[in-house]
Amino acid sequence: MGREVKDVTKHPFLKPSVMSFKATFDAAWQEDTKELGRAWSPYLEDEINRFNHIHRSPEDLAAKVKLLRKLSHKTGACFQRCVGWDSLNTLHIVTTLMAKKGKTEPRERFVEYLKYVQKNDLALAGAMTDAKGVRNLKPSQQPNKNAYLRITEVTKDGIYVSGAKANITGVAATEEMVVLPTRAMGPEDKDYAVAFAIPTDTEGVKIVVGRQLNDARRMEEGEIDGLPYFYNHEGLVIFDNVFVPMNRVFLAGEWEYTGTLVEIFSAYHRQGYGGCKAGLGDVIIGASADLAKQIGVEKASHVQDKLTEMIFLTETMYSAGIAASLNAVKMCDNCWWVNPMHANVTKHLVARFPSQIAQLSIDLAGGIVGTAPSEWDLKNPKLKEYISRYLQGAEDFTAEDRLRMVRLVENVSMGVAFQIESVHGAGSPAAQRIMFSRLYDLNFAQEVAKSLAGRKSSVKFTPKAEPWRESQSETEAKEAGLKP
Ligand code: SF4
Repeated sequence: MGREVKDVTKHPFLKPSVMSFKATFDAAWQEDTKELGRAWSPYLEDEINRFNHIHRSPEDLAAKVKLLRKLSHKTGACFQRCVGWDSLNTLHIVTTLMAKKGKTEPRERFVEYLKYVQKNDLALAGAMTDAKGVRNLKPSQQPNKNAYLRITEVTKDGIYVSGAKANITGVAATEEMVVLPTRAMGPEDKDYAVAFAIPTDTEGVKIVVGRQLNDARRMEEGEIDGLPYFYNHEGLVIFDNVFVPMNRVFLAGEWEYTGTLVEIFSAYHRQGYGGCKAGLGDVIIGASADLAKQIGVEKASHVQDKLTEMIFLTETMYSAGIAASLNAVKMCDNCWWVNPMHANVTKHLVARFPSQIAQLSIDLAGGIVGTAPSEWDLKNPKLKEYISRYLQGAEDFTAEDRLRMVRLVENVSMGVAFQIESVHGAGSPAAQRIMFSRLYDLNFAQEVAKSLAGRKSSVKFTPKAEPWRESQSETEAKEAGLKP
């Protein structure tokens, strides 16, 4: 908001975001989450925080989804650390693929970086989305040469980059950021094919934090209107001639890996949404049920029906995330990628269902969700008695109970994490639909139909149940002799 932030841990706008990150560290120590929150690292031969773990089995991937659901219960917000985690897993597969094809340095640098991150339990941002400029032009065709982050100079010690990454979740509260290309590129775009990791406070990096709905409530120092007091933030990250030492560079001009990298990353992050957004759904369902009780309508059939619908929508998102995990793809020894079809389905459900859940929660909460007096009115000695009298419903509950729950519904169901992030995070809905048509073998389905209709058909049945094509990443990994 036009001012420089000196300390993100104290600033009223950013502290809730730091609190949300904190939940990812606490998860490794709290009784109910520590089993999910920890993992075994073969790189350190020690236990680490799961948020920096390289998935080694389908069960590991399912543990990710479960952990994210649980952490939404603790924060009521996006806890921001998964983008960096998915970036690590993506670079693990891509640099392994590069090594298999003879380019071994990126893999060596990545393993050293991974060990450093795991040992120090660092919180990473994943910086992927570029400013993008004119959307129908490739990076090299843009009138603004910095519309996509690019390498401006290569020296024997490292590279210099300029450009920006947009909508970067949690970035101002992280220790390091992992930067990845945002789209598949061709040979003419090689200056833009760049992946690296740097400390977030590297010279030349500037972060402009974006505004959010109801954000000014965080500045008021209240304890009701801004509930749940955990938030995520997003930032525009500007790279003004930033130097990246060579030991932190994982991709510099190897445009041929960008398509695979983007496909792998986006599927990883789309799978995760089945956990965190289902967890936010639980918070909203719980708040809606409690509000119904507060005004004595909890047994009404239409209320039960709406709550049931919210449960169905929430569990559908979660089921898809679990399916994406347990039907995972083994990409190399001890390295597992999510199932790309299920992961894209998960994110597409998440792009649709949270708005339906929010609508039902507004329906159940009543008009008060948009008209409730502020906590300052409730705390005003001249108004307190009146507001307490007229805001109360069933006698087991106070006006403050109602106001607290109303604010929770308002801020969680209509916040960035549940509404905007659900649509655009990990790729907008059109990106998932492109993946459906790439992965679904329509010809096979047509041949099946033709054979059942008694027409000439070339259908060849295989042990595979699904009419799915192999993804680009699986084909590449197989051709390189990486995928078993
Ligand atoms: Fe993690 Fe979900 Fe936030 Fe992504 S949207 S960073 S998966 S909590």
